[in-house]
Amino acid sequence: MTTEPRFIVLLGPPASGKGTQAARLREMLDLPHVASGDLFRENLKNETDLGLKAKEYMDRGELVPDGITIAMVMDRLGRPDCADGALLDGFPRTIAQAEALDEALTERGHEISLVPCIAVPDEVLIERVSGRRLCRVCGESYHVKFNPPQQAGICDRDGGGLYQRDDDQPETVRQRLRVYWEQTSPLIEYYRQRGVLVEVDGDQSIDAVTEDLRTVVGDS
Ligand code: AMP
Repeated sequence: MTTEPRFIVLLGPPASGKGTQAARLREMLDLPHVASGDLFRENLKNETDLGLKAKEYMDRGELVPDGITIAMVMDRLGRPDCADGALLDGFPRTIAQAEALDEALTERGHEISLVPCIAVPDEVLIERVSGRRLCRVCGESYHVKFNPPQQAGICDRDGGGLYQRDDDQPETVRQRLRVYWEQTSPLIEYYRQRGVLVEVDGDQSIDAVTEDLRTVVGDS
């Protein structure tokens, strides 16, 4: 595996499996996992100003404004553990965010090396999201039908209670998908033109998607 700095963006609609796959890839690549949604949820839990500002947008299934989001993610990428790269998940989600990221990386003499895009049909996403449950302690993601914990409602890793995200309610999910197609999917073309996009079929088992991603990441 190369030791060059690697900045990888995982692209895909809500519930395409980005978070689950990023957790697996992170171990393989030894890169920090920078997930903008997790950063917002952390701020929300700690009741910071940023978290309270973001909450109204998150609850409506809308994107948090670019200015706030870009500042938060750039702050995270500026920490020492990201010097050798990062696995970005949920960011960028707009062309303005992608341009800000390119600019920041160029200033540091880096660039995006790979953008795997996990493709899943909308109907499958809605079914997945409605059964998604997260651990209150470690954030591990489960699905009541497709990836259940050994004991219902309890995290296998640390025994934490599982909960459903407020924005995983069906109406909010439909809104999040609309937002994805309107504002985020143009990034597919943006990265394709830069020669870094690779599409991965996300409508397979979690392990099969991981295998495909392993191949893509290992080959790049
Ligand atoms: P996620 O966990 O990635 O699905 O994100 C949950 C919510 O956080 C999204 O629906 C948005 O409201 C907000 N969010 C996360 N990442 C971004 C981003 N890059 N730009 C704007 N809003 C974001």
